[in-house]
Amino acid sequence: MKNNLERMQELVEILNKLSYEYYTLDNPSVSDSEYDRLMQELMKLESMYPDNILPNSPTRRVGDKINEGFSKIKHEIPLLSLSNVFTEADIIAFDNRIRKENITNPRYVCELKIDGLSVSLKYVKGKLLYAATRGNGIIGENITENAKTIKSIPKILTKPIDIEVRGEIYVSKATLKKLNEERIKEGLEPFKNARNLASGSIRQLDSKITAKRNLDAFIYHLPNPLDYGLTTHFEALAFMKKLGFPTNPNNRLVNGISGILEYINEKTLERPNLAYDIDGVVIKLNSISEQMMLGSTIKYPKWATAYKFPPEEVITKLKDIIFTVGRTGQITPNAILEPVNVMGSTISKATLHNEDYCKELDIRIGDYVQIIKAGDVIPKVLQVKKERRDGSEIPFKMIDTCPICSSPLVKKDSNYYCVNPLCDARHIESLIHFASRPAMDISGMGERIIEDMYNLGFIKTIPDFYHLEKYRDELMILEGYGEKSIQNLLDEIKTSKEKSLEKLLFALGIRHVGMKTAMILARKFLNITALKEATYETLNDIPDIGEEIATSVYNYFHDEKNIKLIQELKDLGLNMTYLGEVKENEKIKDKSFVITGTLNIKRDELKDKIITNGGKVIDSVSKKTDYLILGENPGSKYDKALKLGITILREDDILNMLGE
Ligand code: NAD
Repeated sequence: MKNNLERMQELVEILNKLSYEYYTLDNPSVSDSEYDRLMQELMKLESMYPDNILPNSPTRRVGDKINEGFSKIKHEIPLLSLSNVFTEADIIAFDNRIRKENITNPRYVCELKIDGLSVSLKYVKGKLLYAATRGNGIIGENITENAKTIKSIPKILTKPIDIEVRGEIYVSKATLKKLNEERIKEGLEPFKNARNLASGSIRQLDSKITAKRNLDAFIYHLPNPLDYGLTTHFEALAFMKKLGFPTNPNNRLVNGISGILEYINEKTLERPNLAYDIDGVVIKLNSISEQMMLGSTIKYPKWATAYKFPPEEVITKLKDIIFTVGRTGQITPNAILEPVNVMGSTISKATLHNEDYCKELDIRIGDYVQIIKAGDVIPKVLQVKKERRDGSEIPFKMIDTCPICSSPLVKKDSNYYCVNPLCDARHIESLIHFASRPAMDISGMGERIIEDMYNLGFIKTIPDFYHLEKYRDELMILEGYGEKSIQNLLDEIKTSKEKSLEKLLFALGIRHVGMKTAMILARKFLNITALKEATYETLNDIPDIGEEIATSVYNYFHDEKNIKLIQELKDLGLNMTYLGEVKENEKIKDKSFVITGTLNIKRDELKDKIITNGGKVIDSVSKKTDYLILGENPGSKYDKALKLGITILREDDILNMLGE
């Protein structure tokens, strides 16, 4: 059993991974409510142990890493997130906190919480100057050209004034449905939800693609209302509307708690009939002077909060349990359900994770089960309705041979694995992984197409992707593949040859090499030859690479089969070098750094910067350490560094050395 501090660390790691998938990759792997539940658990632990809050905790920042590829825009006033409330009691507590600040009769503006992504729009003399995403709250991506394709965003205002406004870019439910129907027809993966579609579309490097996605926007915030003589948020909304901005017609000024609850009840009922997705209601204090009195934390304003709708749960019948095999050979039980409609999409499958989860649920085929789907991503079986059993249910039984190749399964920790290296299912999964977005990003090469190509014998191994051209004629006569979609696919495959080394390293599916490790290796070795030639000791010496990863990487590059594969890919013209920024910084190069205490900059970010500049970040202080970077509330490393006479750097010093 983990203690609370270990759990805090674990939660930070899990949530950071999920945030990266959600914000940077637009590809979440869990539902928002699952993420919110883990976040609430972390916040509770952090309030119990305020001295142990980790500097890279997601509670200390907005969003995640910014996507490379766009120029950056620094927000003059940070774009913050919103705190969350989930129950009536939470709303009352929010109101009480406001009243405690001597605000005796707070008035609130209630608004729909549009499920899209925030945008900041800057106008000079009434003309759109730029549009930026929220990014990490301080720096956003410059998406001006893409924003210009959105009809509802005015390019010229009704008055020639200088102004910055903020709002949400979204897609309507109808657009999501239409685009997904088209994608399914073309054999492409459908978008997971409207938020992902909006976020992915506005961050396209080609604005022609954005234009086709039919994006829309609502504007809901004026950061500097006093500059325009406005003293309330409600007036600011009306002012923005007059300037030509699309404000939401559901915005309402209410009095106290009862007005808020009435609004929430009303909108909960109207939600299914709205043309766009909402995931809650935003409650904002109306008076600007009261807002200023309350101020903000580093993550959100104290004068506003977001009430999140509960995830929708429905009951359906479990028809069967089937087992699937993943890339690593891991076996997952899946619930096959009587199809049921949850929030507009039909659900017929849900994950059951592993044997332990099934046993804990005591799930039986024929049971009625409660499933949960928070508007998006993978549905989950939450509960079994045991009271509805009639005795005919068949208890869950774990399989002991692979459902695809029938070889005996091997148990490791809580999971079973098919270890047959020739198993078809594992091959298909590794091909899916290779083409996936965080890996070689071959758009259009989704799960279904890869399965088809595999079964047709067109793609059996990774190099086969790059020989697909020779099957062009055969593909053309297959149902569901049009000439245009085949050409697009072949173009995408060709483009993937240019991807930077870290993408290829991740795509190869080397055990224990996730996206972060792939990046560390790519930056360190710059090309695959240098990595192949690295000794075990060199690998093991790299900060953040432990024995397990070093062994796995070393073994991978010393396996004949893999050496042959890499040579083959090289001959096919795949890029094998790191294409990101590489800096040679003499002040940092080959120097070792230890970090202690809390810094303003995220610890991971600082580590990345030091590594990119050729330095090392190590965990403990020794005589060999060159510098100790000192933050607030340092630990014992500081005392040790003083004793050993190690040079101490403050945050500003290291940033200067890095040339920031
Ligand atoms: P948030 O979505 O909870 O709330 C803040 C955002 O609401 C604002 O930035 C703005 O974009 C939006 N918004 C919509 N309508 C608004 C209105 N009328 N007024 C003001 N703002 C409005 O916060 P966040 O920081 O963007 O995201 C955190 C949430 O994202 C989590 O609570 C979780 O639900 C989700 N998330 C999910 C995963 C996952 O893996 N599924 C990972 C990370 C985050």
